[in-house]
Amino acid sequence: MSATVPTESVRHPAYGGVPQASWDDWRWQMRSRVTSLGALSDLIELTDEERRGIEGRGEAFGFAITPYYLSLIGPPGCPVRAQAVPHVDELVTTPWDLADPLAEDAHAVTPILTHRYPDRGLLYVTHNCPVYCRHCTRQRKVGDVASAPSREMFEASYAYLERTPEVKDVLISGGDPLSLSDRKLAEICARLRSIPSIEVLRLCTRNPVTLPHRVTDALLEALRPHHPIFVHTHFNHPAECTPEAGAALDRLADAGFNVGNQMVLLRGINDDAETVEVLNRWLVRHRCRPYYMLQCDPVGGTAHMRTSVDTGVEILDAMRGRVSGLAIPQLVVDLPGGGGKVTLTPERLVRRDGNKRVYRDMRGREFTYVDEPL
Ligand SMILES: *Cc1c(COP(=O)(O)O)cnc(C)c1O
Ligand code: SF4
Repeated sequence: MSATVPTESVRHPAYGGVPQASWDDWRWQMRSRVTSLGALSDLIELTDEERRGIEGRGEAFGFAITPYYLSLIGPPGCPVRAQAVPHVDELVTTPWDLADPLAEDAHAVTPILTHRYPDRGLLYVTHNCPVYCRHCTRQRKVGDVASAPSREMFEASYAYLERTPEVKDVLISGGDPLSLSDRKLAEICARLRSIPSIEVLRLCTRNPVTLPHRVTDALLEALRPHHPIFVHTHFNHPAECTPEAGAALDRLADAGFNVGNQMVLLRGINDDAETVEVLNRWLVRHRCRPYYMLQCDPVGGTAHMRTSVDTGVEILDAMRGRVSGLAIPQLVVDLPGGGGKVTLTPERLVRRDGNKRVYRDMRGREFTYVDEPL
């Protein structure tokens, strides 16, 4: 597995004639997304498994790929490709697959607001994304055009938040919220900010990965008045760590956003300590703090991408001590059925002996802590 960070910008040769100004224009990238089997097969040589995946999944969960993200795609086995191009294995179902694994709809207080934890709310502002990640937990929404939030749904959600002052932290999610215009996003932030009990906003977006050109000065100026805004992004592999992506993270940090990464563990893509280390060191260099390493949710179509829960624990065990703590995220399993997130930690306690606790260090040596506070 190659775990290196690209040092140069790349463009698929088919886009060689596109003027730089268009290439850098996020609206051009959105308009020019590749969304059909015909268009994609003109650009990359599809395997039989991919063709059958596209045909089989077409209706239920289509694909879309920005020219930028498409340009990062390599031969079969490429981690970018595996996240963006459907595969016949997506048609495999297991008895424990769920359409809405986190029971977000059951915990919805309006059609676009989930209130699971006492002090946090999750607001879905769009079903649109630049790239439809094959491992998406919300494929039921992003695949359904009819799920686009209406003005009434927004109003009902603001009204709920106004009468529910326990909610102090609102996650603006989707879909990818940066699919909306600057004006619409600023309007949402301003409206949320007008509710005095809300302390913190979070913007959950994969645009720094799939369309870093979206992070424009105009966007930053539109959102800055509404700080504190935390950004949660979603880098999964060093192949996504391009100069453009790094610049987008730098611009966010310069504009006062606190940026964190939520990676999803994916089989054959990033399920080894070396890949996670290279990714996370790059993120930290760009002032993006690895926040969560998420176990892939059991959403239908992802069985082939899921790892064993032990894998995540082993990755953390290999990193803790050896790698800067800044580069180590928390490992999270989001409990199917809506139990919420639980964090898992490698067990370093070897044994208890009366008031003695014997732990092992990163090299396997044992050390004793006498647990006897006065
Ligand atoms: C993950 C999640 C949050 C945020 O959880 P944190 O652990 O605070 O990041 C809030 N609401 C819902 C429904 C979530 O799934
Ligand atoms: S950007 Fe997020 S919401 Fe959109 S497809 Fe990817 S994981 Fe799903």
